[in-house]
Formats: sequence, structure tokens, C-alpha cells
Amino acid sequence: LASHEMCPDGRVVEVGDLKIGEKKLIMMAGPCAVENEEQIMKAALGVKAGGAQFLRGGAYKPRTSPYSFQGLEEEGLKMMRRAADANGLKVISEVVAHDQIDTAGKYCDMLQIGARNMQNFRLLREVGRSKIPVLLKRGISSTIEEWLDAAEYIMSEGNYNVVLCERGIRTFETATRNTLDVSAVPVVKERSSLPIIIDPSHAAGKSKYITALSLAGIAAGADGLIIEVHPNPKAAMSDAAQQLTPEAYAQLMKKVGALAQVV
Ligand code: PEP
Ligand code: MN
Repeated sequence: LASHEMCPDGRVVEVGDLKIGEKKLIMMAGPCAVENEEQIMKAALGVKAGGAQFLRGGAYKPRTSPYSFQGLEEEGLKMMRRAADANGLKVISEVVAHDQIDTAGKYCDMLQIGARNMQNFRLLREVGRSKIPVLLKRGISSTIEEWLDAAEYIMSEGNYNVVLCERGIRTFETATRNTLDVSAVPVVKERSSLPIIIDPSHAAGKSKYITALSLAGIAAGADGLIIEVHPNPKAAMSDAAQQLTPEAYAQLMKKVGALAQVV
């Protein structure tokens, strides 16, 4: 279902009035996690000013340690919806378990399946049944074929609204948190009809590399970017080192706009 045979002109995923996979790039931005009302409001205002169409923010966080901040759950989703609506933004947020889909679906325009759950087949099937547009991140150590098979799980349940997201893979290199696999963009374009966006934030793990990786992803043919932006990155409750200030995000978006057409 993800192949070119099924959709020779390339699949365009519609999220309300937005189209992902057409000429114009789609920009998603916001904090790693929703932390409180003020933080998400400032983030929404900032990313809107920078030119984003989607507000991102985690409410169910897949943290490596069980003792780290786990997210505000439904309260966080409510805050994010209010902040997005106040700024004319769509909402994307991650679900880490199938029993969160109904709740998240009340507040989100698109659901994210994170890297750690790329092969959580029950979750993939359930999000497929939901018909809500899905952003499917590549697993930390997954091949492109495994990733496309994961997309197939969602699509085989009747949900064709799948967008892929390259967010870096685990390699021997330690200078960055993960290694952005830029080659995934042309390979995915060759082997599937699905749109693909780049997450330079989780790939780099350090804010100073985000601009270079963003431009590389767009130059390679990606359909958009998802970037972590926090009003006060140093104080972030998760992923502090990689989040951009709204001002830095606006600067980055200017450079992206010089390279390609942003909505
Ligand atoms: C995230 O988007 O906040 C996240 C946890 O990403 P990933 O699944 O790519 O690590
Ligand atoms: Mn994060």
C-alpha cells in the first residue's frame, strides 16, 4: 500500500486544509513536552511567528528513565489545543499506547508514533483503525524496509494518511545524539509513495547543529521539518540541549525559505 504502484503520483496526506507531500514544505515545531499553560502558549506564539503550521509537544512522553518527567497527559493535550487554536495551528502529539488514541484524538489533528514504538504492532494497527493522520518516526535501529513495513501495518487497517519522519539512527558516532540518515530521503522517495519529513532535533541532540541538518534534509527532498522549540530551552524538562528559542527558529526558517517554498 505504501508503494508507487498504489499511488504513482506520490501520496498527499491531508490534515484539515493542509497538504503534506505537495510542493510546499510543512513545518511542525514546538517543545519536546508540554510543561504548563504559559510555556505552551509562548511556544505556540513563537512557532507561529516563525512560520510553522503545526504545534508539536509531548503529553505522553516515552522517557528512557521511569524517574524522568513523563508528561501531563490529557491536561497537557488540552493546553496544547488551546494554544494551537489561539494561533491558528494544527496539533501533533505522540501516543505511546493504544489506549491513549481515543483521548489524544479529541485534541490532536495528527498522532505521532515515536521511534521507540515503530514496531509496536498493536499500536500501529490501532492507529490504523483510528483513521487519524499519523507521523511515523523511524526506529532508532531500524532499516528503511522495516520502517516501510511498519507503515504498511497502519495502512493495512485502512488509514492511508501516513507521513514518515527520519529522526536519526544509532551509529558508532558520539558527536551527535543520533546520526541523521539523509540518504533515507531519496531511498524512501524511490521505494514508497509516502511523504517524509526530517526531525533534526532528535538526530543532532544539540541545538547548534539543527540548522545545517534542516537544510540538508530539505536539499535532499524532504517534505518538511519537525523541530523542537522552547521559550526557555535551558529550563526545559526534557531534551533541553537540542531545543531552539523562538528567535533561533525564526532565523532557521528564513534560511529554509531561501531554499524551498514554505507554506
Ligand atoms: C519526540 O518527538 O519528542 C520523541 C520522543 O522523538 P523520538 O521518538 O524520535 O525519539
Ligand atoms: Mn524530544
